[in-house]
Amino acid sequence: MMPCPTSPPVPLAGGWRLDHSYSRLPARCSAPASPTPAAAPRRVVLNRPLALEIGLDADTLARPENVGWSTGNTLPPGASPIAQAYAGHQFGRFTMLGDGRAILLGEQLTPRGARLDIQLKGAGRTPFSRGGDGRAALGPMLREHIISEAMHALGIPTTRSLAVAVTGEPVFRETPLPGAVLTRVATSHLRVGTIEWAAATGEPDLLRAVADHALQRHYPEHLLAERPYVALLRAVLERQAALVARWQHVGFVHGVMNTDNMALSGETIDYGPCAFMDAYHPGTVFSSIDHQGRYAYGNQPTIAHWDLSRLASALLPLLHTDEQAAVEIADEVLGTFPEIFRGRWLAGMRSKLGLFDEEPGDAVLIEDLSAILQEHGADFTNTFRDLSGETMTDADLAAGRTFQAWRTRWQERLARQPRGLADALDLMRRTNPAFIPRNHKVEEALAAATMGGDLSVLEKLVAVLAKPFAYDRHLPEFSAPPVSDGRVYQTYCGT
Ligand code: AMP
Ligand code: MG
Repeated sequence: MMPCPTSPPVPLAGGWRLDHSYSRLPARCSAPASPTPAAAPRRVVLNRPLALEIGLDADTLARPENVGWSTGNTLPPGASPIAQAYAGHQFGRFTMLGDGRAILLGEQLTPRGARLDIQLKGAGRTPFSRGGDGRAALGPMLREHIISEAMHALGIPTTRSLAVAVTGEPVFRETPLPGAVLTRVATSHLRVGTIEWAAATGEPDLLRAVADHALQRHYPEHLLAERPYVALLRAVLERQAALVARWQHVGFVHGVMNTDNMALSGETIDYGPCAFMDAYHPGTVFSSIDHQGRYAYGNQPTIAHWDLSRLASALLPLLHTDEQAAVEIADEVLGTFPEIFRGRWLAGMRSKLGLFDEEPGDAVLIEDLSAILQEHGADFTNTFRDLSGETMTDADLAAGRTFQAWRTRWQERLARQPRGLADALDLMRRTNPAFIPRNHKVEEALAAATMGGDLSVLEKLVAVLAKPFAYDRHLPEFSAPPVSDGRVYQTYCGT
């Protein structure tokens, strides 16, 4: 059954126009969950451009007397708070989960016709909290703000961050930390784990209703397809292949690619122990709990493929009435992942090297460069930035004979394409960021904000990251890799 459409709400004070299509699913899919009021809410970040984009009046939101909406002390007009049910494979093991500390206020209907979840992360306990306190610490919420907004500026699909507010109460992790709530905006919070949860209930009608909702929300063009659920699987697979390819192009390491952290929309979601790689190495991992390197940079495509196999498995009852036939369909779709991913990855890597056309030797050219970067421990971002500027400032790399030989091959390759060098350099500067959220800069901003209450460092960083392709800006402080003792090797879940 399709969720029944209702007439859209009219905008209310502050521009809120919340609908609740997810809540119209069968009752078990969610649980009512009111935010727990914070003792002393104080907003530390308000994303004005995002507010404007989604039809909210930033001036109204910003008023000190209106701070309550960003911690859940007061609800925006039209809100109907719930926690969503979902499951997930965490580090390979299946668990029933659900929003343990996130509360969905509703779906904002924007002036541009989008429907966007508005969620408070860290707003208190819900019926799915299990042993957790339902709260979040300021540092991780600010990390999510910085990195998700940087991803957006890089043109990578992602959830967004509308606001961060402190609660005025400590959360107790290894030490007491300031508590905070992040207001997250997403095209939806439907996850691979949402489908897994529906499948695990063993109720085919419920699984179908949730899958229909996902189609309605993200892939309406497939609702009337001959085999809509096969189309759903294929569509999610394609978006995830494209997404993870984009991560690889910029050196983003997600850190916890559990199936509950993989969105059906194809947006990057759940920024935990994530970070950008400085020196190129496929084994790069930041998460303090990822001892095996399961979610290392170089493993991300393989893990995405594995997560999608969990999605396929959950969808089996909808793929075909005959189980064997369903498995064959799932295998056929899953089998397309490596080639789709590689196509996306290769296309992006060609752009990074200024290549408009295709030659069979391109993959080897790219892989040879990767091997040289790995051998020299060269900075991933700045190597491409330097190539884009026709200069090579990384002295160690530039001095290497293997690199010189590689560069000659690349220049010969550029010369063989009909488009001139100016066009190639222009393509490279639009593709290779000059600025990424380097982990030592993120940590510096978080330390100033959480220990000294100084937000100016974060604000400056966020402003630089909003224009990642601004090659005319010479800001070595933001583009330089960390000096070796400043390198941050681990980020903590610390959630
Ligand atoms: P995450 O690691 O943030 O993706 O969360 C994994 C699961 O643990 C989700 O079901 C969360 O809702 C839940 N969770 C994480 N932190 C807390 C917390 N402090 N209190 C309650 N549940 C939590
Ligand atoms: Mg999660």
